[in-house]
Amino acid sequence: MTAWFEDDKQYVWHPFTQAKLSDPPIPIVSGEGAWLIDKDGGRYLDAVASWWTNIHGHAHPYLAEKLAEQARKLEHVIFAGFTHQPAVDLAGRLLKRLPSNQSKIFYSDNGSTAVEVALKMAIQYWHNRGERRRKFIALRGAYHGDTFGAMSTSARGTFTQPFADMLFDVIFIDPPYPGTEEATMEQLRHQIEVNGDQVAAFIFEPLVLGTAGMYMYTPAALAAMMRMCRENGWLTIADEVMTGFGRTGTFFACDQVDENPDIVCMSKGLTAGMLPMGATSASDQIYQAFWSDDRSKTLFHGHSFTANPLGCAAGLASLGLFDQNNVMDDVQRIALNHATFRTKIRHHPLVKDCRHTGVIIAIEIETGLESSYFSALRDQLYRFFISQYVLLRPLGNIVYILPPYCISDFELGLLYQSIEECLDKLSVQIHNS
Ligand code: PMP
Repeated sequence: MTAWFEDDKQYVWHPFTQAKLSDPPIPIVSGEGAWLIDKDGGRYLDAVASWWTNIHGHAHPYLAEKLAEQARKLEHVIFAGFTHQPAVDLAGRLLKRLPSNQSKIFYSDNGSTAVEVALKMAIQYWHNRGERRRKFIALRGAYHGDTFGAMSTSARGTFTQPFADMLFDVIFIDPPYPGTEEATMEQLRHQIEVNGDQVAAFIFEPLVLGTAGMYMYTPAALAAMMRMCRENGWLTIADEVMTGFGRTGTFFACDQVDENPDIVCMSKGLTAGMLPMGATSASDQIYQAFWSDDRSKTLFHGHSFTANPLGCAAGLASLGLFDQNNVMDDVQRIALNHATFRTKIRHHPLVKDCRHTGVIIAIEIETGLESSYFSALRDQLYRFFISQYVLLRPLGNIVYILPPYCISDFELGLLYQSIEECLDKLSVQIHNS
C-alpha cells in the first residue's frame, strides 16, 4: 500500500504546474494561523495567503464552527426560485461595505466566474437597452481569470497562446503607472474618438495589477480614467478579486478612489479562503436594464452552487470577525511593518524596485533582463524559500508578500529575514560567477 501523497502523481493534475519539471507537491495535512503543516510536522509560513484567499488564518476555529453549524442546518439549495438567509444577510453586509451606488449581489463560484458574470452583465446591459456594444477596454498586463471571457480581457501571452484565435477582441491600454498617467489618458481619449459608441465597459484591477507582478498605480489615476469613462457613457468594472477585503489597506481598493464603479467582482477573501465563492455586485442602473416584463431581458446565468449556504456562512462569519476583532487594524500593522522593511532593502544592489500598498509588498529582483513571469530565477527563488519553510511564490523575478492578517510581527520578521538572506545569497552567487 502506498501512502496517499505517493498516489498524487498517479491520480492528480495540478493547476499552473508542468508536472514533468516540477518538484512533487508538498503534502499538507493541517493549518494553523499563518502556518501550513506537512505530513512530517514541517511548518511552512504561508506568506501568500494560499493564492490570496486566506484572511484570518488557516483552520480558524470560529469560521470552522460557523461552517459546521450551517452544514447541520442546510448545506445547499437551488438558488433559482428559492432563497435562504445566509445569502440575503451576506448580500446586505457586502452592500454596506461596497461603493454606495452598488445595489444588488449576484453570486457565483470563483474569481473567474465573478468576472464572466460582470462581462455578461455589461454586454447585456447594452443589449437590453437596444444598443450593440461589443468592445471592452482592459489594462495591458491584466489578469482576470482563466475562463474564456476572463482570458480575453487578460494579458495575451504564454498562458493564453493556445487559445489566441478563440478569444474575443479587447482594446488594451497601458496602465497609468506613476509618471505615465498622461500617456494612459491620451490612449483612453483616442479610444473614445475611434470606438466611443462601441465600448461596453472598461475592466480593471484597481490600484494593483496582481498576477502581472504586483504593479501599482494611484487612486487619482484610476479616478481620472473612471471619470472619463463615465462622462462618455462607458461602464466600469472593478475586479476586486485580489484587492478586496483589505489587501490594499482599505476594505476595497475602490474605497480610495473618488469615482464609483458600475460593477464589482469579488472572490478569494470573500469567504476568508474557507470555500470557493464569487460575487458580482451591480449598481441600480445596471439592474434596472434587466428588470422587465420581457423574459428575454433576464440575465441567463447561474451555477449549480450559486449562493451556496456554506460559502455564505463563511463569508458572514468572516465579516463578523472583521467587525469584532478590528481586523483592519492588523492590516495597518502589516502595512507599517512593510514600510519599514521597504526602507531597509530598497537600496540593496539587487533590488530593482520595491513597492508596497496595504498588506502587499513586492520586491523586484534585478536580473539584467526585463522582468518576466518566466524568469529563470523563479524556480531558484521558490526552492530557496521552500527550503526555509517559507511559502513565497514569486511572479518570475518578483517576490511578494500578501499574508493572512493574523500573521504576527515576529512571523513577518521571519519572512523579511528570509528575503534578505535570499538577496545576499544571490549577491554571492553573482559575485562568484
Ligand atoms: N481576477 C483577479 C484580479 C485575480 O487575481 C484572479 C486570480 N488570481 C482572478 C480574477 C481569478 O480568480 P479565480 O482563480 O478564483 O478564478
